Amino acid sequence: ADISQREVVEHRLRQRETELVGFAGVVAHDLRSPLARIMGYADFLHEEAYDRLDGTQRDFLGRLRKGADNMRVLIDDLLDYATAENRPMVTVPVDLRRLAEEVARDRAGDRAAIIEIGELPTVHGDPTLLRQVLDNLIGNAIKYTPPDREPRIRVGCLPLEGGRWRCEVCDNGIGIPDRDRAAVFDAFTRVGGSENFPGTGLGLAIVHRIVERHHGEVGVDPNPAGGSVFWFTVPTDARLPAPL
Ligand code: ADP
Repeated sequence: ADISQREVVEHRLRQRETELVGFAGVVAHDLRSPLARIMGYADFLHEEAYDRLDGTQRDFLGRLRKGADNMRVLIDDLLDYATAENRPMVTVPVDLRRLAEEVARDRAGDRAAIIEIGELPTVHGDPTLLRQVLDNLIGNAIKYTPPDREPRIRVGCLPLEGGRWRCEVCDNGIGIPDRDRAAVFDAFTRVGGSENFPGTGLGLAIVHRIVERHHGEVGVDPNPAGGSVFWFTVPTDARLPAPL
């Protein structure tokens, strides 16, 4: 009886979390248009009136645009978080290698980086959500490498027993202190050294939730060569339990 009671409580908590994240998504969505107006006027001042502003006014305008831009990133991340939680899932065969190549191509504009993509399987899941997983992991691998070092990233996979694969994204970045490793997948959590890099602390919470909806697990290990190895498991067998 204890077990079923526990399941009921867990189910209710899950539902409540889904509602909360859904609410955050609605609010984020509604904040988009007033923010677009603020950014529009600030951009207009920057383009059309900059010559007529004195030093202090230019400084304030710069801060206004920076603040608005940070808010845009937060809103986008909140919307992605709501999507990860609430988007109805489709389960189709997904060519993970092609997905990784697309993400690497899109991310090539961030900064020069070496991204090596190994043999990756065709898995079963939601292509939009799995793309988000790879994009967040590869994006972090690039971002959390100090500017004076070229990011070297390897995306690879290993088969596990029971129709699952373990995929990993290895980087040569700043790494994560042992004591912080367990916390990084929590929403809004940023750890050791990340103050120097822009972010909201939502990316890995999004990854965690999407992988969970695919009945997989996520984790991070230190890279023996320096940096981090983020990994997740995904089903390659369509007969595994239906997605959440
Ligand atoms: P964000 O990047 O917006 O801060 P994430 O949820 O993606 O949020 O990551 C949470 C924290 O985990 C980051 O602030 C950083 O401290 C740490 N982190 C994530 N990816 C890496 C990485 N590849 N190397 C080192 N630290 C990382």
